[in-house]
Amino acid sequence: MIKAQQAARSASESAGSSSPALSAIRSAIGEVPDPELPIVTIDELGILGRVRRTTGGDGVRVELHPTFVACPATDMIRASVQARLGEIAPSLAADVVLVFDPPWTSDRISAGGRAKLAAAGIAPPLAADPAGLIALDAVVPCPMCGSPRTGLENLFGPTLCRTIHWCPDCRQPFEAIKTV
Ligand SMILES: [Zn+2]
Repeated sequence: MIKAQQAARSASESAGSSSPALSAIRSAIGEVPDPELPIVTIDELGILGRVRRTTGGDGVRVELHPTFVACPATDMIRASVQARLGEIAPSLAADVVLVFDPPWTSDRISAGGRAKLAAAGIAPPLAADPAGLIALDAVVPCPMCGSPRTGLENLFGPTLCRTIHWCPDCRQPFEAIKTV
């Protein structure tokens, strides 16, 4: 967060105006943590889409791709992005919109985001099937030990986008991000 604020500040200083560069705005709002998975940011999850200046340049339009249409965290993410924009670019009119086309897919999660999820014991989503099919019986390797012998315990984890699995080798459950 601090790094992004510094980046935003130096970008605005170099531009000689009170409004930071678009890249600085993007990196600052990209650091907003996901409310349900605070170990990863909305940029790492691929929720943050395009960030553009609006016509005339006096505003900024931010596109968010909610992970699930009914995801209750979406409103929180939107409010956090609005708040961050207000901190770093108070002079810009902010337009934060939800975009469902193209839909968010788990392929949008960055390599860095996947690594952070795995390090936190949460299995990242599997690579999507090219045919667009979601195999519910696909093996999710254990994020702790890598065991392929895991089983699905519960399709409904603590949030809409998570499932609960059991690793017979670690003898404990773990969460996974649904592949969509
Ligand atoms: Zn294990």
